[in-house]
Amino acid sequence: MAAGTRAVKSFQDGSKRAGIGMTSARTRERLVQRLREQGITNARVLEQIRNVPRHLFVDEALATRAYEDTALPIGQGQTISQPFVVARMTEALIEGSTLGKVLEVGTGCGYQTAVLAPLVRFIFSVERIRSLQDRARQRLRELKITNVHLRHGDGFEGWPAHAPYDGILMTAAPLAIPETLFEQLAPGGRLIAPVGPEGHQQLLRITRHNDELKTETLGLVSFVPLVKGTA
Ligand code: SAH
Repeated sequence: MAAGTRAVKSFQDGSKRAGIGMTSARTRERLVQRLREQGITNARVLEQIRNVPRHLFVDEALATRAYEDTALPIGQGQTISQPFVVARMTEALIEGSTLGKVLEVGTGCGYQTAVLAPLVRFIFSVERIRSLQDRARQRLRELKITNVHLRHGDGFEGWPAHAPYDGILMTAAPLAIPETLFEQLAPGGRLIAPVGPEGHQQLLRITRHNDELKTETLGLVSFVPLVKGTA
């Protein structure tokens, strides 16, 4: 590629990321302000909501709605999580410290992954639907996020090869947290998960203190269900 072409391409990539109109810096700032008003206080998390181009994680037809505080469809009957919930879960997981290894169950479009990535050392993220995983991989690469490892698999099994994890984040809701995931949680580790049937899910934070698990409830949420097997 000639130098001139490269310059044009990098300009286009940059402006696509920065956004215009409904995806502009001003629109994003309104979202950040809204999350602050709703009680998100962690400055690093808010910074990530401001910086991660959520419009690149949804179909172009939905890009103008990317900075509304709402879940949106990403295909295959799945959704990109609502920004407030992503911020809340991220805040609850990191609690101000930089975690080492985090297991994410449900990569989806990779938005939550991208928000969390700079705040931890490594993310190991499992997704059961191959086509979603492929697209997530491409986006994370475009955004030059390099500390994330993706696996096509069933999150009910976690990712034993890299266990134990300092944090586990579930972005699909089981009726009860699989025992296998507790087994992959390090002492002192935190697991954040929406738990319960559709329409009645509680966001839980469970902290492992040696052999004891401490559970906190963080509020009602609405997630797609955790489904067994791969597709
Ligand atoms: N945080 C993601 C949310 C995606 S929705 C985002 O912002 O895009 C939840 C995802 O969990 C879906 O992609 C769904 O396919 C995936 N999922 C459901 N059950 C799963 C399982 N058993 N193992 C891995 N992924 C699962």
